[in-house]
Parts: sequence; C-alpha cells; structure tokens
Amino acid sequence: MRPWEKNVRKVVPYVPGEQPNETDMIKLNTNENPYPPAPKVQELLKNMDADQMRLYPDPTVGKLVGALAQHYGVKKEQVFVGVGSDDVLAMVFMTFFNSEKPILFPDITYSFYDVWADMLRIPYECQPLNEAFQIVKEDYYKENGGIIFPNPNAPTGAELPLQDVEDIVRHNPDSIVVVDEAYVDFGAQSALPLIEKYDNLLVVQTFSKSRSMAGMRIGYALGNEVLIKYLNDVKYSFNSYTMNRTSIELGVAALEDQAYFEKTVRKIQETREWTAEELKKLGFSFHPSKANFIFARHARVHAKEIFAALREAHIYVRYFNKPRIDDYLRITIGTQEEMEKFVAFLREYLK
Ligand code: PMP
Repeated sequence: MRPWEKNVRKVVPYVPGEQPNETDMIKLNTNENPYPPAPKVQELLKNMDADQMRLYPDPTVGKLVGALAQHYGVKKEQVFVGVGSDDVLAMVFMTFFNSEKPILFPDITYSFYDVWADMLRIPYECQPLNEAFQIVKEDYYKENGGIIFPNPNAPTGAELPLQDVEDIVRHNPDSIVVVDEAYVDFGAQSALPLIEKYDNLLVVQTFSKSRSMAGMRIGYALGNEVLIKYLNDVKYSFNSYTMNRTSIELGVAALEDQAYFEKTVRKIQETREWTAEELKKLGFSFHPSKANFIFARHARVHAKEIFAALREAHIYVRYFNKPRIDDYLRITIGTQEEMEKFVAFLREYLK
C-alpha cells in the first residue's frame, strides 16, 4: 500500500444493472419503461436550441420545481429536484442521517442504501423482512438515527399499506422517515398526502420509471419546507448546478401530458398481470407486485441457471447473488410483445 492510500476514502461501490446495447435484445434488467417519453418531450427535444448550452442552468431549477409543485398541489418550497432520485437520496443521506444512532432499512431492499451509509460512515441496522417479504412496521419503532425504505419495496415489488407507513412516521417524531417511491405510480398508494401532517416525512420520486426518462436523470423530494431548505443548503454546498438545461425543460414537458402518462402506466400494469399469470403456469412463484417488475423464483430450476439461459438468448433480467434472494429473478415488465417473447422462451426452456 502506498503511503497516501491510507488517506483514501475506500468504498465498495453500488453495482448498477448492465446496459448492453444489442439491437435484438429484450432488456428487462433495470426497471426502465419500455415506452418512449411523452410526445411533447420528443417534440421539444427536437426543437432545442444548442446555443442555450453556453449558459449555466437555473441553479434553483425554478421551472421544474414550479411545475412539480403545481402538479402535486404543494408549495414550491416543498419541492427539491436532483439528478435522478439516486442524487436526491444521496443528498438525503448527507443531510438527514447524521446521528450516532443507526439508521434503519430493510435487509432486502434497494442495494444503494448500505453503499451510501458506508461511504458517509453512517451507522445502520437492517431490519429483516418477514417470510412473505413484507416490512414489519414494529421493527421501526426502536431508537434510530433515521429511517428509509422503498414503497413498493425493491426488488420485491411489495407494497407497505399506507396505514403502516403512517404508523412508522408517527412512531418516529424525532427522526426523518424517507419513503422512496421510485415505483409508486405502478399501483401503490403514495405517502404524499401525509407530508402536510408530518414534518419528519420526506417522499422521494423519479421520472426514470413511470415517465420513461431514466436517461434524463430527474428525481425529486417532497416534504415540509424546513426539510427542503436543509436539502438545498447541502446541495448548494456540493454542486449548485445539478440539473442541466435539457432535463429541466423536458421534465416540465413530461408533466404536462397526464393522459400519456396514465395510458403507458396502465399498459404496463396490464402486461404485468398477464406476465404474472403466465409465470404461474410455468411454475414460478412470487408475491403480488405493485411495481413495474416481478420478483420470482422457479419451483425446480435455480434462478442463476434461468438467468444464464435468458442471457444467452439476449434476454436480460436481474439476478442478485445475495442471502435470502439468490434464488430469485427480478423481471422488469417490458412491452406486451417483449413479454410474450420472454414467456415463449421460458416455456421452451423449462419443458
Ligand atoms: N430507488 C429505487 C428503489 C430504485 O430501484 C431506483 C432505481 N435504480 C432508484 C431509487 C434510483 O432511480 P433514479 O436515480 O433513476 O431516479
């Protein structure tokens, strides 16, 4: 080890799903939306003026903050925007999780949480999901330095009923409770109505899934004005120009087309239910999903083998080699046509 290496911040990084670029692939591994962004987004992108790129973007992200505030019926001061919800969540960890006490999150959950905690030297304690892969709310009633969980959870897709979310928030008036709602639009109930009632609740959402804009990197947090002010203070101490001009403009356009949003979300829900039925017939089991993916295991064939066979056929799903879930596949819902091909492949393979 070279002498300076003792001063390096050593981290075990998060591993994102792979991004292969094959023309014939079926990509069901990173929970992207199979449909293009709203037509208004496409149109605006075509007409963008490159000369504008000389100028820094608005550091307050005012236009998008305003559009989000209007969309959700909250004040501008209750909205924080970042470069995807990963950026928002990283800021959240930096801003709110500064206690000596451990923060709490589920043992099976978004695998970025422990990475941020380790990087920022935040103590944490994982709370095991029950046998049905559900969050046990009472596990979050102990002393803690903050709480975070996705709802629906990832990679399970399981929804924690809003009543239970509220119970967790209510039992923790001295901590910030963060609900990561990356997948909420696909059928779960949002905790958003509770932000007026609880000043310790922060709801985080993204344009990456239900709005088909993972490549644009837009995420946001909604909560009490005081929380948002603290988040902005950390943001401005880190990087004032997080959001680029294009993302700001296209984000606003995406919000304007509610009908398209509803139509594509509905299509994904329908395809999810169709896929679930087919997977059942093929011997898979899983808990109901409220997200744009299904987390399933097969009665006979190990997930790792199915994963490899699919990959060979250029069908990409996600496999996590981790305790409790190493026999599961996380299958993103693609278009109906893609899922029909996926099911057809499995039917042959599992014969
Ligand atoms: N939260 C959860 C639970 C996720 O699965 C993801 C997607 N990897 C994110 C947050 C981050 O998504 P994005 O940064 O694209 O908004």
